[in-house]
Amino acid sequence: MSEVEPRTKAFDLRAVDEIVVETVAPAAERIDRMGAFPREALTAFGRAGLLGLVSSPDVGGLGESHRAATLVVERVASACASTAMVLCMHYSGAVVIEAHGPRAVREAIARGEHVTTLAFSEKGSRSHFWAPVSTATPAGGGVRLDAQKSWVTSAGQADSYVWSSRPLAAEGQSTVWLVPSGAAGLTIPAPFDGLGLRGNSSSPVTAEGAVVPGENMLGADGDGFNVMMGVVLPYFQLMSAGFSVGTMEAATTKAAAHVGGTKFEHLGQSLADLPTVRAYLSRMRIKTDMCRALIGDALTALETGRDDAMLRVLEVKAAAGEASTEVTDLAMRVCGGAAFRKEVGVERHFRDARAATVMAPTTDVLYDFIGKAVCGLPLFG
Ligand SMILES: Cc1cc2nc3c(=O)[nH]c(=O)nc-3n(C[C@H](O)[C@H](O)[C@H](O)COP(=O)(O)OP(=O)(O)OC[C@H]3O[C@@H](n4cnc5c(N)ncnc54)[C@H](O)[C@@H]3O)c2cc1C
Repeated sequence: MSEVEPRTKAFDLRAVDEIVVETVAPAAERIDRMGAFPREALTAFGRAGLLGLVSSPDVGGLGESHRAATLVVERVASACASTAMVLCMHYSGAVVIEAHGPRAVREAIARGEHVTTLAFSEKGSRSHFWAPVSTATPAGGGVRLDAQKSWVTSAGQADSYVWSSRPLAAEGQSTVWLVPSGAAGLTIPAPFDGLGLRGNSSSPVTAEGAVVPGENMLGADGDGFNVMMGVVLPYFQLMSAGFSVGTMEAATTKAAAHVGGTKFEHLGQSLADLPTVRAYLSRMRIKTDMCRALIGDALTALETGRDDAMLRVLEVKAAAGEASTEVTDLAMRVCGGAAFRKEVGVERHFRDARAATVMAPTTDVLYDFIGKAVCGLPLFG
């Protein structure tokens, strides 16, 4: 393949679909109701090699990249958004470990025996994850971390956290660390009880004198910004957009099935016989397809090194995140009062979809970045 050709060979999703049908979909309602972590699905993904999707073949991984990760997250999100976001965060952390982490952990991820996640957001700097206020200080032979992380998907469930702090000694805004989740000094102050993504275990994590070896630094001291923006951001943006498209797809499919099968007996008509309902469904279909097409273009831009690649990468999460709140809102509307109950299944997608707009970079921050890019202004400054 030449450097400018897009990756045309699609990733074979059969193994993913099998796990989605056999493990993810049957557990989705319980995971949402109980706020249960999707451990069975992670075990199945691990056995199939899919936790090592973005790991290099050199350590036993599948050697895939943005396109496959985005597709996998989309497929999983169409059945269970909680499971999809756990996978999204695992891949986001795994790419940093791939780039800068120890071989033993890279091999464990590829074997499906290590789940990771991102611990970037903090109580102090909130959604501005690129500006951590937490500290890293020398402690004997290691490094002491003190932090109030505000949200960590898979908190207490992952094996490691890809963790940000202020630099140890260098200039710069941040440094990134590999922190074993069992490290002394880490606590989870409150369990997660969310509106949506209820199976994510997205709790705060506090570090009080947690000590890690100095070699657990991921990248250079003070270089966290480049790790976050260069390595993590394109993956997270695209996978988050895939997550939103999977959620929209599921809501659209379920809404269409409901309106087709629900009758006004006195009129001898179904809800689908109402032109208004069909027009809403049409808008849902169009928005879902527009976002999928935009993701495809963003992936091609990235794979071919197009000049607008970064703009597209910034656009996809904002576009798909916002569209998914609109599409799932329309799904609630066309399914009427029935949607308010659990059995139609669209209210779960309605709740889950909302997370994408406030997960950092939030839609509002992306609008600001994109606006700056459009006006030729520097993104940060
Ligand atoms: C389910 C879930 C899982 C998560 N998992 C993780 C995880 O695994 N790892 C992790 O690091 N984080 C995670 N997060 C945190 C997430 O990335 C955000 O940091 C968090 O949602 C921000 O919430 P906040 O209350 O701190 O927002 P705030 O920063 O207080 O923002 C409040 C509002 O202000 C707006 N705003 C903020 N700054 C600007 C600006 N410059 N311009 C315009 N508007 C602005 C925001 O868009 C938002 O509408 C998760 C969040 C959720 C909801």
